[in-house]
Amino acid sequence: MTTLAAELRQRIAAQGPITVADYMAASNAAYYRRDDVFGANGDFVTAPDISQAFGELIGLWTAVTWQAMGAPYPFRLIECGPGRGTLMRDLLRATAKIAGFHAAADIHLVEASPYLRSCQAWALGDREATWHGTIDSLPAGPAIVIANEFLDALPIRQFEKHADGWRERKIGLGPDGYFVFVAAARSDVPDADGLAADVGAVFEICEPARAWAAALGRRLARDGGAALVVDYGHRTSAVGDTLQAVRRHGYHPIFRSPGEADLTAHVDFAAVAAAAHATGAVCHGPVEQGLWLRRLGIQVRQTQLTAGKSEVVAREISAGIRRLIEPDGMGMLFKVLALGHPSLASLEGFAQDGGP
Ligand code: SAH
Repeated sequence: MTTLAAELRQRIAAQGPITVADYMAASNAAYYRRDDVFGANGDFVTAPDISQAFGELIGLWTAVTWQAMGAPYPFRLIECGPGRGTLMRDLLRATAKIAGFHAAADIHLVEASPYLRSCQAWALGDREATWHGTIDSLPAGPAIVIANEFLDALPIRQFEKHADGWRERKIGLGPDGYFVFVAAARSDVPDADGLAADVGAVFEICEPARAWAAALGRRLARDGGAALVVDYGHRTSAVGDTLQAVRRHGYHPIFRSPGEADLTAHVDFAAVAAAAHATGAVCHGPVEQGLWLRRLGIQVRQTQLTAGKSEVVAREISAGIRRLIEPDGMGMLFKVLALGHPSLASLEGFAQDGGP
């Protein structure tokens, strides 16, 4: 049993069942402090580590957006949950020749894990950055915000449909003293009203993701700029139990090792967009990741990256890019949503999709 599992069991024994959000928050806070999460030898690999083209194209998107904002000097270049810092490193390399961009970019990274902060500092080399535990301490001003696979790690609450209505799914202890789901008292779940839901169906709400989108939407509408959210999830709110644990590149039972597996849930893009829209931001997309990367020119980048390489290396580069864009890889499940100041009428990669 993990140390955290023992702590959570004590907590439940003393205070009663906890929410799925409590469990997920405690597990991920412990998990992301570890030094062996990312990469081939870790638990999972993300897009920036699959192909450098990912961070480079997001870099170009950032530079074009900055120009559309009127090239403000300075502007806050913010990344939430930067992991090992690969995306920001590739973004900065790809934008090095854009006149004035690097001089104007004031980098702020939102990262809870001390270990990952040190990886990010290393990835950035000489570039200065300021770290924040949450978005609350970010300085005001025009901003471009990037969040890749950040919202899926934020804690969700789950509600289960019973014959008499919705009940929150909580986590208690079974007769053997181990974790089990228990149903709390009946509660109203207005967001689930109108959704087709059979008895047993699960509806998820990620309150921190909504709060994040609302706070950023308010700030972007006030100070200018845009945010780019890339994650896996669904376009419209729907029922479905999407809570999952991943360890060593495979699915893992969610109750087995809290703090030692990555707990995530699909992002409800409709809920995120609605929260940002309500505070004055304009939403673009979501667009499927494969389509968005193609519109940004990933195939041209593939040709450049493979030119002059040995066949083996070229094949590896192409395989990475295919994984990002193909429907059976990350191309369809992953989606890209932008939030922006109303003056940014169209944003690169979204033009044909209109507003929310
Ligand atoms: N964007 C990176 C990492 C994704 S993993 C990539 O694509 O590779 C999620 C990241 O969010 C990690 O850096 C993790 O430490 C951070 N994170 C998770 N929950 C957080 C929270 N509540 N506050 C701040 N950072 C958080």
